[in-house]
Amino acid sequence: MLTQNLGYPRIGGQRQLKKACENFWAGKINLDELQQVAYTIREENWQTQLQAGIDLIPCNDYSYYDQMLDMNLLLGVIPERYAPVTKVAGNNEIDLYFAMARGYQKNNLDITAMEMTKWLDTNYHYIVPEFTGKQQFKISSEKVFEQYAAGKITLGDKAKPVLVGPVSYLLLGKEKEQGFERVDLIKKLVPVYVEIINRLIQQGATWIQLDEPCLALDLSKKEKEAFDFAYRAISNRISGVKLVVATYFEALLDNTNLALNLPIAALHVDLVRAPEQLDEVLALIPDSLQLSVGVVDGRNVWKNDYEKSLALIYRAIEKLGSDRVIIAPSCSLLHSPIDLDLETAIDPDIKVWMAFAKQKLKEVAELKQIVSGNFELLQANKKAIASRSASQKVHKQVVKDRVSAITEADATRKSAFPIRQQLHRERFNLPYFPTTTIGSFPQTDDIRQLRAKFKKGDLTLEQYDYALEQATIEAIRWQEELGIDVLVHGEFERNDMVEYFGEQLDGFLFTKNGWVQSYGSRCVKPPVIYGDISRPADMTVRWSKFAAAQTDKPMKGMLTGPVTILQWSFVRDDQPRDVTTNQIALAIRDEVLALEQAGLGIIQIDEAAIREGLPLRKAKRPHYLDWAVSAFRVTASGVEDKTQIHTHMCYSEFNDIIEHIAAMDADVITIETSRSQMELLHAFANFEYPNEIGPGVYDIHSPRVPSTEEMVSLLTKAAELLPAQNLWVNPDCGLKTRKWPETKAALENMVAAAKQARTQI
Ligand code: GLN
Ligand code: ZN
Repeated sequence: MLTQNLGYPRIGGQRQLKKACENFWAGKINLDELQQVAYTIREENWQTQLQAGIDLIPCNDYSYYDQMLDMNLLLGVIPERYAPVTKVAGNNEIDLYFAMARGYQKNNLDITAMEMTKWLDTNYHYIVPEFTGKQQFKISSEKVFEQYAAGKITLGDKAKPVLVGPVSYLLLGKEKEQGFERVDLIKKLVPVYVEIINRLIQQGATWIQLDEPCLALDLSKKEKEAFDFAYRAISNRISGVKLVVATYFEALLDNTNLALNLPIAALHVDLVRAPEQLDEVLALIPDSLQLSVGVVDGRNVWKNDYEKSLALIYRAIEKLGSDRVIIAPSCSLLHSPIDLDLETAIDPDIKVWMAFAKQKLKEVAELKQIVSGNFELLQANKKAIASRSASQKVHKQVVKDRVSAITEADATRKSAFPIRQQLHRERFNLPYFPTTTIGSFPQTDDIRQLRAKFKKGDLTLEQYDYALEQATIEAIRWQEELGIDVLVHGEFERNDMVEYFGEQLDGFLFTKNGWVQSYGSRCVKPPVIYGDISRPADMTVRWSKFAAAQTDKPMKGMLTGPVTILQWSFVRDDQPRDVTTNQIALAIRDEVLALEQAGLGIIQIDEAAIREGLPLRKAKRPHYLDWAVSAFRVTASGVEDKTQIHTHMCYSEFNDIIEHIAAMDADVITIETSRSQMELLHAFANFEYPNEIGPGVYDIHSPRVPSTEEMVSLLTKAAELLPAQNLWVNPDCGLKTRKWPETKAALENMVAAAKQARTQI
């Protein structure tokens, strides 16, 4: 029996690669120095995997920026607009590479970066391949061959080159012009894969991994045929190598037969996300195929439950014999933090329940050893797992009882929207097209330094609070002068919209080094939800109350919603996500009520991440949307009718989920729409969305200051689609990443636009 790994984090335990890349971009180090850092991490990663005892170790999972970008270069899928970079930079591949990743503004050139999007349902962003109708493919980079050559030196026969498979590569890209379908490019693409694979074989490769996550998605007939065609065509023209196709993040479902009958040596399936698929896979697997069972969770931070994993492994062995079973993590470990040993401040009782990438490798190896008879390892694991399931740090009966007692009434506002709307009109007496902002104001260096000093102990709490109070007062004065109708306090006291709440809720912990790559050199450090969640004290009341007292205008209370908190954290794997979400919902509900009690008449509950939680498979979406919407409603429905609940979402595609968005029943929803010229409001218009809505009238992702006329014209469009008396005027999202000058200028124009719209529409 073999073990394999599918991919390892490349940023380095101390985020060395991030720092090296940023220094390279800033011209502080040269390419040699960057390479030195990269190769050191790569070598360390290989040693770690060797020492853990993994049999097949990935090469070419290493990347300066992104594995899909690497594929673009390898296959020569380089958009026309970068041709001038090649001219200037000559053979310097790295300049072209980073130009595609980050755009190029040098040598009188100004070329935009390639688009990025989320890698399936992870928080990792990849560079989206751009295809044209006349797309040609040609090997255009030596990286994979160099990586494998280096891997072979360190790893010998254990070295396994990794590529994104041809069909997923096409499907995860996009057409840049009309008149063709990218999946049809498969015929032209396959010969290049054949060439690449044959070169790797010549170099000595015995195993090659092709990632085909799209095999776990809903596929059209044509897409299924592309898989069949591609792998048949490849296998006819190669020999002497074993291909392992990796699927993950979902079950194969209706693609099971397709995947099992590809002419390959081994198929990898994700048995963490979808353990239930094992029976069908084993029932249908052909005689020759090896099965890689992904039993160690590559997406979370918890210690593997060996008993559970072994049950799956033994079932596979029983059917296939141990020679045909490979033990593996569920997916690439790219999505895990790197090394738990670096965490010195985590409560030791909890730390024994956790595992990061390095520890997960060891788990894979230990599972193999247990199968071979080392039962001591199993006993030790059982002990840790048992201590977690019995721990009072995890389990709080009052919290569980409260969640089980949630009723439909808890998730329903006292009266229907029209009645509430009338009360809000009387209470707040706002003009048509009321103006507001989404919450945060610029987090200037001054504000960040304040926080850093406070954390270091250079400022006392009094000094820190006083400085924040001054910033808040200033922001309020300024909003009043400008004539904004519903004010915000500016969120100066918050580092991050999830962390701020996680730090104040019981059941969360924070790591020192638990970084995970988000895109390029950007990493995130999600909080860890380890136990039943409760709210020991008020979280935002102090600041909202302080802010409200500074003005006669309505002040919005500002909270993060339960689904977003869940989505942006590492979650428990010992209870369903909806249960955890409801625990958060109840905690935030209590905060909503505390704000109402403190006199805040308007409370915004941000649900930035509802859409990104959508399951990959369509069939699973209704269930998710049901519990996600219900959790929001639990959060929002404790208040009196006269309290106005806002929500905010920073994306814009609502077509397929509009009925669920409406079911959230927020009194006001603010969304992103400016870049689409209000196009995206059509979903709301077609649905005849009944509640109030603030379509963003300017894009906060750029420092550009939009003119009053532009915003009036957007408002005019919005008023053609939706009843004018239901429209609010606001930016697309929070302003924390912007600087003050452009923020002030843009909001001045926005207020002027609202005033103009009031007289015109
Ligand atoms: N209230 C938050 C802010 O203004 C919302 C941010 C978000 O939606 N991502 O920053
Ligand atoms: Zn937003």
